[in-house]
Amino acid sequence: MAKAPMPAPLIDPFDRPITYLRVSVTDRCDFRCVYCMSEDMTFLPKAEVLTLEEVDRVCSAFVRLGTRKLRLTGGEPLVRKNIMSLFRSLGRHIRSGALDELTVTTNGSQLAKHAEELKACGVRRINVSVDTLDPAKFTEVTRWGKLDKVLEGMEAAKAAGLEVKINAVALRGVNEHEFDGMVAWCGDKGYDMTIIEVMPMGDIGPDRLEQYLPLSLVRARLAKTWTLEESDYRSGGPARYVTVKETGRKIGFITPLTHNFCESCNRVRLTCTGVLYMCLGQNDAADLRTPMREGFNDDQLDGSIREAITRKPKGHDFVIDRRHRGPAVPRHMSLTGG
Ligand code: SAM
Ligand code: SF4
Repeated sequence: MAKAPMPAPLIDPFDRPITYLRVSVTDRCDFRCVYCMSEDMTFLPKAEVLTLEEVDRVCSAFVRLGTRKLRLTGGEPLVRKNIMSLFRSLGRHIRSGALDELTVTTNGSQLAKHAEELKACGVRRINVSVDTLDPAKFTEVTRWGKLDKVLEGMEAAKAAGLEVKINAVALRGVNEHEFDGMVAWCGDKGYDMTIIEVMPMGDIGPDRLEQYLPLSLVRARLAKTWTLEESDYRSGGPARYVTVKETGRKIGFITPLTHNFCESCNRVRLTCTGVLYMCLGQNDAADLRTPMREGFNDDQLDGSIREAITRKPKGHDFVIDRRHRGPAVPRHMSLTGG
């Protein structure tokens, strides 16, 4: 019997192939990082959040339409009940070769428990968010987190054979003088690192301008201590990389504010409520939950996804300055997934 023809891949109006889906599997978290959430967050009612079966269904539709990389994020993905059943089930796309990469961004608090199983599900690399190596400061930034628990999780990940990359948000007056130490630590431990500019997403209480530290400054300071060699390495995400000659590890810089990376954007994001955002920094979106709950079949679901991709905008326009202190978009990062 002839094989069914492969569906056409997703190409947006600017000729960018869409091959990377990030999924926020929950808006909840066991931390309250000062740049991500306000202290008194209200979370969504459970009925609005996609079931794990629904998340699997949308992810699998994307894989069918040519997605090669899937990142589960949140909120904190590893606090969602039964989350490992989703990893187990999505692992089938890695085994079949339909997907190149299944990965996760986590705050690391639950990693010690799950590292081995993540590896068994086909996850090879993970991102763990660590903004500071000072335990007291760590608790200040995350409000509720304990650094030793996260470090323990990272050791467990390494022992399980997972490659670990650190995500650190650059925060003025908080961790700005720690990056030399973090680069040395990453060198010792064998971790790559990505440094991220704080993005104006959601109302978080404190003034964004007070948090914002341009990465041009971070990079210039690092260059006084380390030899930073330009690298054409790409992880499939928005970071631009250098290799630290002295340690051999990479540092990625994600600079949505000082350098726009939209021209090579290959990704879209699904919120935990099933809303597809074609751009992290714009408000246009497509609701995929309603059609799924109204009984759309797979062809119809694929059609809704294709229609959404025709609306992917050229780029975002984040600005933080004296005239733009508030959020550029009302959503918190935890809803859309970082
Ligand atoms: N809870 C997980 C974690 O912290 O890794 C996954 C979700 S978190 C929203 C994903 C990434 O987004 C983290 O690395 C976090 O530091 C980053 N993030 C959160 N809010 C941000 C903001 N306003 N600007 C820049 N990065 C942000
Ligand atoms: Fe939670 Fe991650 Fe947001 Fe911190 S950055 S509050 S760990 S979702």
